[in-house]
Order: sequence, then structure tokens, then C-alpha cells
Amino acid sequence: MKKQTIDGKTFRLHGNYYEWLRWNPVTKKHETVTLQRYLWERDHGPIPDGFDVHHKNLDPLDNRDENFELLPTLAHRSLHMLETWKRNHPETVKNCEECGSPFGVPWNVKVQKRFCSDFCQNKAYNRVRLGRYHAKKGI
Ligand SMILES: [Zn+2]
Ligand SMILES: [Zn+2]
Repeated sequence: MKKQTIDGKTFRLHGNYYEWLRWNPVTKKHETVTLQRYLWERDHGPIPDGFDVHHKNLDPLDNRDENFELLPTLAHRSLHMLETWKRNHPETVKNCEECGSPFGVPWNVKVQKRFCSDFCQNKAYNRVRLGRYHAKKGI
């Protein structure tokens, strides 16, 4: 599907996203409105400055409301950078064994990293220690 019409507006597929050229009578210029932004603003109101509409399942063509999520632009960008990185270097991204969040392992690091941060590592190690302590004391 190269284009689709929603509310009488034509959205054309441009790269990964459907876009509509909206005429701005103030600036007298056309501005690009992506389908996800249009739908979000129609259904939820204006998007605050510095926020993007993100496709939760990473499928830019899945424009159902439940697939939308408002994210700060910076967080949104790093999320996509991480996804791209994961696709290209699947061996370098792991999920933290403690909190489950994904983290990158530098490609030249040979040691097995299991946790995203010292915080998670300490938490996990403390639990193991506590477990041993309880086992010894029989409690
Ligand atoms: Zn996104
Ligand atoms: Zn963690």
C-alpha cells in the first residue's frame, strides 16, 4: 500500500512512514505530518514539544492506537539506535539478569557481562550472599 486516505487526507508512504503534506497558512509552507503524529493528535490532543510518537512493536506500518507511545525525542532516538544496533550486532546486546533491561556489551569485551550496572550486579551478588547466610544459619 503506497498511500492511504484518512479523514480525507492523503498519506503517502515515504521511507518507513506515511506522511501527509499539511498546508500551514501562517508560514505559507507545506509541512510534513506523519500518520502516527496525525492520529495521536487527533485522538489525544497536541503533542508537547520534544516528544515523538513511537511504534511500540517497532512496526512503522502498524498505526493502531494501542501501538502508539509518546516518548521524549532523545529517549526515542536512543531506543531506535539500540534497536538498530541489536539487529546488526545481536551478540553485543544482552538483557540484565537482575532487572531485565537491555544493555550493550562493547564488541571487544570478552568477559561475560551479566548485569546492566554495578547496582544490579551488587543487588544480585548480595542476594546470593544472603542466601548462603540463610542456608548456613538454617533460616
Ligand atoms: Zn519509534
Ligand atoms: Zn539491571
